[in-house]
Amino acid sequence: MSVATGADPGIVPDAGGHFGLYGGRYVPETLMHPLLELEEQYFRAQRDPEFQRELNFYLEDFCGRPTPLYLAQRLTRRLRGARIYLKREDLLHTGAHKINNALGQVLLARRMNKSRIIAETGAGQHGVATATVAAMFGLECVIYMGAVDCQRQALNVDRMRMLGAEVAPVTAGQQTLKEAINEAMRDWVTHVRTTHYILGTVYGAHPYPLMVRNFQRIIGDEARRQILEKEGRLPDVLVACVGGGSNAMGLFFPFLEDASVRMVGVEAGGEGIQTGKHAARFQGGSLGVLQGARSYLLQDENGQVELTHSVSAGLDYAAVGPEHAWLRDRKRVDYTFASDQEALDAFLLLARLEGIIPALESAHAIAEAVKIAPSMDPQRIVLVNLSGRGDKDVDQAAKLLGKRNPDAASSLASLL
Ligand SMILES: *Cc1c(COP(=O)(O)O)cnc(C)c1O
Repeated sequence: MSVATGADPGIVPDAGGHFGLYGGRYVPETLMHPLLELEEQYFRAQRDPEFQRELNFYLEDFCGRPTPLYLAQRLTRRLRGARIYLKREDLLHTGAHKINNALGQVLLARRMNKSRIIAETGAGQHGVATATVAAMFGLECVIYMGAVDCQRQALNVDRMRMLGAEVAPVTAGQQTLKEAINEAMRDWVTHVRTTHYILGTVYGAHPYPLMVRNFQRIIGDEARRQILEKEGRLPDVLVACVGGGSNAMGLFFPFLEDASVRMVGVEAGGEGIQTGKHAARFQGGSLGVLQGARSYLLQDENGQVELTHSVSAGLDYAAVGPEHAWLRDRKRVDYTFASDQEALDAFLLLARLEGIIPALESAHAIAEAVKIAPSMDPQRIVLVNLSGRGDKDVDQAAKLLGKRNPDAASSLASLL
């Protein structure tokens, strides 16, 4: 298959940002020019050794890269199957992979002489990462966040404000992530001369899906090198959770041409696919256009975007990144889901067995590893992306576990 590599970004997506049927640039005329300018500047920066040097400097000395690849020994022993390695993105500055991309884009914004940064955020993780890099460079920063999310994630609102960012609550519609993205796009159109919009995942109009993936591929580049050092061979399975899809694309991309490596993306199964209360776009979603890109969406027969649900705010979005849709069509990556209950049980399991409290998003990936490892031979290797740490989720998890009927626990709880 022909897959664009870092050195040759032109094959997939094509010049218009299409990954097969997906992606593209579905925006009003007023956004076309800023997107074309961004694309040109991004490609120029990507080829510039000075930009790469600067990026690497901050990734190492500010963010804390490389992150470790850690053999989860007690979890492996408990499951009596494949060896489980964790890529520790939870150890990065601000606690998740999001800063890899926020940092890359803020460096790009400086090259473009933009003095003002805006971003959308759902759970607040991308907002915190963006506010952090904006503070580091002394740039003005406005974060759009649904008013409902502001209440649910009050700690992250405070973090952003401490960092000097303005948090703008959005009261339109459902008052969550989708409305925050609309508001950020509106701001960008109005202030494009001074402002760069740091989009937080592999979604939106071209060049965002390509650019964000390339800023996140450091996860997979490091993991590939580290597993070869530790085990002398490639992993058998890669597992990552999929919200918009940036941590998963970042891990998967450098392995796409390794035919022996299976890849699994885990979406939010919420309260179950049949209940409709989930965010598993590949289970019951269909082709549509949302916020600049063509991809798989949860929508009704009239094309109205449906409400989604997940215990983890970071996976709770109606659309999935276009490159994932393309990889699924090509059967290169398998997509499955974990329910809220399975994620909660995986959250506890990792805390108790490994001393690591994962983000609830990442717990979806852990849940899948726990399901597949026992039936695999002990020589096999499962590499899981631990996309973030769970401090932000402790309060919510404690409440949910506290009021849970023991019968509602998933089968994973029996491993505790
Ligand atoms: C935002 C977030 C995600 C989901 O976003 P992707 O773009 O799919 O990676 C997953 N894990 C953590 C910890 C997050 O903060």
